[in-house]
Amino acid sequence: MSANAKKYCDELYQRVIKRNANEPEYHQAVKEVLESLVAVLEKHPEYIELGIVERIVEPERQIIFRVPWVDDIGRVQVNRGFRVQFNSAIGPYKGGIRFHPSVYVGIIKFLGFEQIFKNSLTGLPIGGAKGGSDFDPKGKSDAEVMRFCQSFMTELYRYIGQDIDVPAGDIGVGGREVGFMFGQFKRIKNVYEAGVLTGKGLMYGGSLVRTQATGYGLVYFVDEMLKAKGMSFAGKAVLVSGSGNVSIYATEKVQELGGKVVAMSDSNGYIYDANGINLDTIKQIKEVERRRISEYIKVHPTAEYHTGCEGIWTIPCDIALPCATQNEINENDAKTLVQNGCKAVGEGANMPTTLEGTKVFLDSGILFGPAKAANAGGVATSALEMSQNSMRLSWTFEEVDAKLKTIMVNIYKNASIAAEEYGQKDNLVVGANIAGFVKVAEAMKAQGLV
Ligand code: GLU
Repeated sequence: MSANAKKYCDELYQRVIKRNANEPEYHQAVKEVLESLVAVLEKHPEYIELGIVERIVEPERQIIFRVPWVDDIGRVQVNRGFRVQFNSAIGPYKGGIRFHPSVYVGIIKFLGFEQIFKNSLTGLPIGGAKGGSDFDPKGKSDAEVMRFCQSFMTELYRYIGQDIDVPAGDIGVGGREVGFMFGQFKRIKNVYEAGVLTGKGLMYGGSLVRTQATGYGLVYFVDEMLKAKGMSFAGKAVLVSGSGNVSIYATEKVQELGGKVVAMSDSNGYIYDANGINLDTIKQIKEVERRRISEYIKVHPTAEYHTGCEGIWTIPCDIALPCATQNEINENDAKTLVQNGCKAVGEGANMPTTLEGTKVFLDSGILFGPAKAANAGGVATSALEMSQNSMRLSWTFEEVDAKLKTIMVNIYKNASIAAEEYGQKDNLVVGANIAGFVKVAEAMKAQGLV
């Protein structure tokens, strides 16, 4: 059977490439998962016979739509909107919406596919989906962003619902955008369905800790990896790429645990502050003023700014937290990090390391927390927001934070146990893929051929 499972995965991967031509990000995500699953399929040939894996790599539904809107000088603009509803075996479709010029169906598919396993790992009842648009919110006025969000929702509303599909934020979509989309959904449907979107403002059904959740969850997860090897964040030099929501709250939690974040970045460049990043300044620049990270050195002239965001990985560090975007760490970056003494990597962004880079980390024996496990705290807290909406009550910050922490500790445990069970101790890539997959596979098995 052993050769069969491997052969099956290789052939299936070739079919995925053929059927989804010119979608390299999606191929990459599928390749990594299929490689991890060979051992599971050897043990469970029924997953092959029942077409479980074959079905998992094919989205249940893909929606592509036109998003027309008018800019501030009265010109008509047209963008493309996407929602890929990947898998609903364990709960309503769930996953964020990304607004970024690089968005096309291959990006949305890779993200939606990852979301199936990530959401399963949280232990909460949520299926996998993702959506977005090639709209670029950078440089747009609030009014333009609002008109775009309203037009986007005017089409999307027919496909979503608190028990159908629950979008949230991702790159380019934060509280402002979720608010505009929620308002439009409510107006079109004439229903106050709070659980239809997560990441809402606190005054209209949002959850405490949702803003902080992905970053905090990442650090809780990495802290578990460190603890298992007798280490901690205290006194460690940390690199955090990006300066969006995930990066900001990862930095906040690292600082709380006694670590020193020495660098952050945006898509133009990175800052290095040997004294440790001043997070109040970053929050002011990024959350309030929505400006570039280069502004930081005007406030802290002893810090350095360098153009080109990839240079951040050349800074010697103990821990690296890539929180910007996909494939931001390639093979060479990974080698540089390892050579410079990096001891642990935790992925805050989705798929921030290339397959070759991941191999470098795994072969070197440093600690490596893959995205679908390490950054699951965001969507987990979204599911907690859905629970609160259903109950029509709100938990305190401490209650939600404690639940988030427990979820991250459990994800670490379950991924570690799965890795060990399948003979790959400490390989959390394999462990996370297997642990996430098995729950979905069992649910699909129970529900018949659908
Ligand atoms: N975009 C986040 C992710 O990649 C959160 C999704 C959600 O809260 O639904 O997991």
